[in-house]
Amino acid sequence: MTAHFEFEIGKTHLLKLDPGDDILESITAFAHERDIRAGWVNFLGAVQRASLRYYDQEAREYRDFTLERHLEVLSGLGNISMLDGKPFVHIHAAFGDESGDAYGGHIDVGCTAFLIEVRIDELIGDPPVRQFDERVSLPTWAG
Ligand code: ZN
Repeated sequence: MTAHFEFEIGKTHLLKLDPGDDILESITAFAHERDIRAGWVNFLGAVQRASLRYYDQEAREYRDFTLERHLEVLSGLGNISMLDGKPFVHIHAAFGDESGDAYGGHIDVGCTAFLIEVRIDELIGDPPVRQFDERVSLPTWAG
């Protein structure tokens, strides 16, 4: 473990995303509007399509894929920290189809809501700041 942060619990926000709203863009816009610099995100509901990323740990690059179908959101989980001086939203989610099969990954722009219910817990304190970590070739929380 190389980073530890401690917070007081701030406001909890509930948001409803409507048909056609982009999940990542909507949550990012809300974090920017309210200047939420540290937080935790949960959501559930359904999407019209999903654009996801898988991080290839060997190649050190993302593999992007899109599911052009209607899916339930089984679990959406993310956080808010700082990157390049702005609130940055990082989310992973699992999606289920009509057979109960599940898919998932790191969500990208292109996950379009059918209906999504979001909870954002604001954390009050010095926010984690993402800096490039050469061990994983990603911007991670700097200690
Ligand atoms: Zn991720």
